[in-house]
Amino acid sequence: MNDAILSAPPAGNEPVRSYAPGTPERAALKAELGSLLSESFDIPLIIGGRELRTGRTAPLAQPHDHGRPLGRFHLAGEEEAALAVDAALAAKPGWEAMPWEERAAVFRRAAALVAGKYRYRLLAATMLGQSKTVHQAEIDAVCETADFLRINPRFMEELYSIQPRSSDSEWNRVRYRPLEGFVYAVSPFNFTSIAANLASAPAMMGNVVVWKPASTSVLSNWILARIYEEAGLPPGVINFLPGSGAAVSAVALSHPAFAGLHFTGSTAVFNGLWRQAAANLGSYRSYPRLVGETGGKDFVFLDPSADPDAAVAALVRGAYEYQGQKCSAASRLYVPASLGRAFLDRLAETVRSIPVGPPTDLRAFMCAVIDGASYRNILPYLERACSRGAARCELELLAGGHGRAEEGWFIEPSLLLAESPDYETMREELFGPVLTAYVYDDRDMEAAYRLVDGTSPYALTGAVFARDRRAILAGLEGLKNAAGNLYVNDKPTGAIVGSQPFGGMRASGTNDKAGSILNLIRWTSAGAVKENFDPPVDWRYPYMSEE
Ligand code: NAD
Repeated sequence: MNDAILSAPPAGNEPVRSYAPGTPERAALKAELGSLLSESFDIPLIIGGRELRTGRTAPLAQPHDHGRPLGRFHLAGEEEAALAVDAALAAKPGWEAMPWEERAAVFRRAAALVAGKYRYRLLAATMLGQSKTVHQAEIDAVCETADFLRINPRFMEELYSIQPRSSDSEWNRVRYRPLEGFVYAVSPFNFTSIAANLASAPAMMGNVVVWKPASTSVLSNWILARIYEEAGLPPGVINFLPGSGAAVSAVALSHPAFAGLHFTGSTAVFNGLWRQAAANLGSYRSYPRLVGETGGKDFVFLDPSADPDAAVAALVRGAYEYQGQKCSAASRLYVPASLGRAFLDRLAETVRSIPVGPPTDLRAFMCAVIDGASYRNILPYLERACSRGAARCELELLAGGHGRAEEGWFIEPSLLLAESPDYETMREELFGPVLTAYVYDDRDMEAAYRLVDGTSPYALTGAVFARDRRAILAGLEGLKNAAGNLYVNDKPTGAIVGSQPFGGMRASGTNDKAGSILNLIRWTSAGAVKENFDPPVDWRYPYMSEE
């Protein structure tokens, strides 16, 4: 029994460690990389707290090293998906009866394990399994994961505190109940932290979860699943089901107790899941909550007053870090004619100097793209580009343009110049280290904003570079619906939990803003209760009396 009115403990952002030569964290990381490379993992499913090995397996690949898989993982199919839904529903009554602060404490403990005991293991697994540099893995797998797990309990408290007005004679209350059923979490390969949040945010709010991780991030995601267990999460609250997305979805989305989808990934897959849910609508007990953060075609817009040095630095980081495989990565660049070629030549020179290598080579700024399918998808776009001076060139190659697949899926950081503002690489998400520039006519700025706003179906992130305050204001107004997250004089990547709530509109998703109270609202069902302390005893109204 606990009669105290509690607050979630204070929550700051996890400090980013440098891993510079000579630091203790660099030594610890190297030891952990060596340890992971010497193991051979055999990763099971976790259903109702029990490990299950199906015997149907796939390799745990390293994108930068074809010759050295890290082991294998077992694949879930329809049968295991049905077991996982049952296990989740069995865990539901106990979990939702637990007071919110006890649920929050489980995830605060998980944050401590992420930032402490398992820091280097999660970091090294993300580097090797998802081909991230140490810095990219640190800000994702360690810092952002810990931030979600620490800061979301603050948002829980804030949300549960929202109560209606009452009076002397009545008490109005809102109870925040978990959804009636289970939440299906489907996570992408590119951020360990997103995988952490997709399963943990609904669970924190008292829901039970069937979690299907991406097949190319199973090692780091498995470590997360084990961390939740070690933090005291009861069996069945989050069930870990790597395997066929189609098979698991077929079961999850046709179950009457399907209550919510927490998805991050491509627009095409989210659209497919939405259609499946719509087709099954008649069989659900409740309208499911469909939350999806999807693709992007993120822009950087240079005003004529932009600082070129700041723009080059932001473009190199914003377009090429993690090989351009961030949903927020800059992939279209608008350069005013007045800055034009001189700016692009300077940017191209910097792009050509970017070091590419495996994540174990700590000098690398970029590693390999995630798999062969991605490599084969990106290269043909680059092959359609031509070199400077070619006749009838729709797309000019300014830097990069080649791939190298003998050891791993490496693609050079590439910079293109499109003749037309709606060339395919200005519209479509390539999800690789490819930035396409277009030189716009800066005599008509309104037309330029309309162009940025209307070129691509996506609206996730964007950045405006300008020194002139009038230009900043005009950019904020002209581009207000072109992005869910807009940056001024900064790269369009790297949103921080608690500082920049993240999500986009249009084909980029439902804009439910991960890392904020707005996301948690989707995982609760408010119930209003009115209690009358002085109920009327006469049913007649005064106006009905005789004159
Ligand atoms: P993806 O859509 O290929 O896969 C996402 C998840 O869906 C994976 O777990 C995958 O196994 C599963 N899946 C694939 N096909 C399925 C099917 N038919 N049925 C059910 N599940 C299926 O995306 P990805 O390659 O892992 O990630 C890259 C994409 O994610 C990009 O489009 C990127 O923009 C987007 N993304 C968006 C955000 C955001 O916040 N908006 C963040 C990260 C990534």
